[in-house]
Amino acid sequence: SAVALIDALTQLSNRRAFDLELPQLLQVSRKKSTPVSLMVLDIDYFKSVNDRYGHLVGDDVLKQLAKRLLANMRFYDTPFRYGGEEFVILLSNTDLAEAQVIAERLRHSIGSRPFELSHLFKESMLLEITVSIGLTELKADDDAQGQSFLNRADQYLLKAKATGRNQVVSGQ
Ligand code: GH3
Ligand code: MG
Ligand code: MG
Repeated sequence: SAVALIDALTQLSNRRAFDLELPQLLQVSRKKSTPVSLMVLDIDYFKSVNDRYGHLVGDDVLKQLAKRLLANMRFYDTPFRYGGEEFVILLSNTDLAEAQVIAERLRHSIGSRPFELSHLFKESMLLEITVSIGLTELKADDDAQGQSFLNRADQYLLKAKATGRNQVVSGQ
């Protein structure tokens, strides 16, 4: 059922939906010879948000972040909640240069405006959140399931984390 493909907290598509969609998109893109890019986005130091302010705050940040992603994406791109505080975004018909622009816009949409959490507290509460993003484009020798494609995006995410966070790191 459709419910099994939706994440209950953010209402985004979940990992199961992503695992189904990825090979399908790769197949269509290869048939049509159109580029595909993939972004892996992870909240920076999210554990400390939970540790300092509690899980309800963490949950609220996840919900708001999902909304910001949707508001700053093209309507035909799909964000998925892949794991706890990790999101993947499939960009069909998009080469790496175009994807870099989109990734920077998303990063900026999160990091440039603090999250409003006053509704959970007695006093005014604003929280600054940043994300790191790994980004890559599909290559001819990537496998049909998308494993090597996803792994490569993940490697760039790790590099973004290791070299300062709050940045996009991308490559072919
Ligand atoms: P990094 O910058 O390296 O990504 O550090 P991090 O703290 O974001 O990463 P780490 O993997 O250490 O911690 C992820 C945290 O995300 C830990 C976990 O409690 C939290 N988390 C995962 N899913 C949820 C959720 O649904 N709700 C809340 N509130 N927290 C979640
Ligand atoms: Mg994180
Ligand atoms: Mg993570």
